[in-house]
Amino acid sequence: MVGIMRIGIDDTDSPEGMCTTYLGAVLARRLRQEGYSVSEALLVRLNPNVPYKTRGNAAICLEVKGDAGQAFALACACVEELADFSAAQTNPGVVVAERPLPRGFYHRAVTGFCTTGEAIAFLDAHGACYRGYKNGRGLIGAAAAVGAVFSDATYELLAYRRHEEQGGRIVGRESVFSAEDATYPHTWDSVDRENDMVVCVPHTPDPVLFGIRGESPAWVRTARTHIQSQEPVIEQVYRTNQGTDAHLVAGKIGAMDEGRSYLASGTVASLPRTGRGGHVAFDLADGEHTVRCMAYEPTKGFRDVVRQLVPGDVLLVAGSYRKGSVNLEKMRVCEVHPISTRRPPVCGACGRRMTSAGAGKGYKCRECGARSFQPEVSRAPRTLSPGWYEVPPSARRHLAKPLVRFTSAELAGLQGRYLIADCGETGREDTGYYTS
Ligand code: ATP
Repeated sequence: MVGIMRIGIDDTDSPEGMCTTYLGAVLARRLRQEGYSVSEALLVRLNPNVPYKTRGNAAICLEVKGDAGQAFALACACVEELADFSAAQTNPGVVVAERPLPRGFYHRAVTGFCTTGEAIAFLDAHGACYRGYKNGRGLIGAAAAVGAVFSDATYELLAYRRHEEQGGRIVGRESVFSAEDATYPHTWDSVDRENDMVVCVPHTPDPVLFGIRGESPAWVRTARTHIQSQEPVIEQVYRTNQGTDAHLVAGKIGAMDEGRSYLASGTVASLPRTGRGGHVAFDLADGEHTVRCMAYEPTKGFRDVVRQLVPGDVLLVAGSYRKGSVNLEKMRVCEVHPISTRRPPVCGACGRRMTSAGAGKGYKCRECGARSFQPEVSRAPRTLSPGWYEVPPSARRHLAKPLVRFTSAELAGLQGRYLIADCGETGREDTGYYTS
């Protein structure tokens, strides 16, 4: 039958090579060569805490018009040719859905955990066609990708080298900085200025040469014109849930589940402490419950912000809950607690500053012998101001929304999901992504 369909694919790579987004780019090209129209390519990031992921837990979805049976055969052939089947952890999944699917499965896969059985039941219930290879785990990501509906989206232009190619990539460092100079804040995270690093060129053994993230296809393409590199073999612009905080749900300290990511508020309950490896930890409390918050060493200068927190500061924190800690991606300092300092008072009789008379004995004037029990209390200035703070681009997770994307109302904590009551699981089962 000829109509609009969605093709979802996941779990084709291994730590030694390949990348599902590359496979998606190749398949899109092959489909076009076969006369299909490919109206949209989606790069769908899923729960960043799943243990089986190779790198960034990405699945892809192509929205295509043409014959569904043939498209399924082409997608399977592409996976069979390119997926790294030799790796135990590579378990590809291919799905073709000719009808819009409810978004609930996608929502669960980006904010929580799903099983292969649940993916198969979901696909069966909605009449989708699928094939799982080996243990079929890739069907989870493939099913989530075909059911994905983004309430917010960004774009990424990915340029690829040949998939067999290994070793260093040739991408001009200065050209990447110029690309960001010319297009920021409409593109972001190509470089990390604070740490003087190129971020958009990976070091992993996969076909990605570089990736430019931005707010529209036009902006990522403009940035791309500045990049000087070895010749890519293929390029693809994906619409994506990267940079949208799609993984965050409203959380409560004391009631967080392992491997989910939260936006939660609380009051700082301990001074930050720097541990081995330079990781910084502090406790955040809500009533009688506390949780440890972590700013790891790769978050670099963000740790200096965290080190300025004091007990009593009120925060909204965003991050994944793992092994008893919230691993911070960003935080809003809602209120800074006043800090006061105490020192011996000035003697009322002779004007000299008193000194301590010993533990619990107040103060004594060494000049005239006068005594006092009242210290001089003054308010110390806080170096930390209320507002949002985030990890640098080099430490940013794919799904984390960078502050450069926040509206001024969001920055002020006045709008959207950053008012914590507005954030959370809607469990909506809405559909409607097909263009016709
Ligand atoms: P690739 O480029 O191949 O997509 P990756 O880093 O995205 O690499 P995968 O190799 O795809 O990771 O491994 C992730 C595996 O976890 C896939 O099999 C996918 O179906 C599965 N998965 C994704 N999200 C979830 C989830 N929420 N719950 C359980 N399994 C999931």
